[in-house]
Amino acid sequence: MRVLIVEDEKDLAMILSEILEMEGYYTDVVHDGVSGLDNALSDIYDIIILDVMLPRMDGIRVLSEIRKSSIGTPVLMLTAKSEVEDKVCGLDNGADDYLTKPFNTKELLARIRALLRRKEKVIIDENLKFADIILDKYTHQICKGDQKVKLTKKEYDIIELLILNYGKVISKEELTVKIWGYDADIEYNSIEVYISFLRKKLGAINSRVNISTVRGLGYTIKGEKDE
Ligand code: CA
Repeated sequence: MRVLIVEDEKDLAMILSEILEMEGYYTDVVHDGVSGLDNALSDIYDIIILDVMLPRMDGIRVLSEIRKSSIGTPVLMLTAKSEVEDKVCGLDNGADDYLTKPFNTKELLARIRALLRRKEKVIIDENLKFADIILDKYTHQICKGDQKVKLTKKEYDIIELLILNYGKVISKEELTVKIWGYDADIEYNSIEVYISFLRKKLGAINSRVNISTVRGLGYTIKGEKDE
């Protein structure tokens, strides 16, 4: 795991780097926004720790440039206590989490681990990205690189719901209610048919995304094929 630290307080940057390296992460440290953006655009990082107040380019701008370049690396923003408004602004610009300075080491490490777990799920330009696919909310296509497959509206709604609930099992009942509503006259068997169409379509673009059946419970989406 490689972490980019963009922090102009050199002592803090050094401490962060030491803590993370002790935990087994590789780190690169830069002290200004322009260098931070340059490094981030290489897209080699698993996570970016980004201070808000930075020389040459502030953290909010750096983040928005990163997202404009369709780089989905999770970003943990660091804000000073007085910069509460920056938090909101940072999250609007595509930050995945923020931490107020001063913070304790345990808290930092816990946030980083949580972000790495969520890494598969990132929203870019309103389209949902998950593992190797991007869902286009307007055309209802799923794309993997330049391979594309068109979904029906219901298929799109189902895969979107599964991705937004990544890590959880969604029951057939829940799927039915959320997609068709309470009064819907739909057989549970139909859900199975929709899921099997979705699996075929994922297969058609050679995606590693997999909708698993959890016997007796429902469905869950994974970023890799079952063993
Ligand atoms: Ca700063």
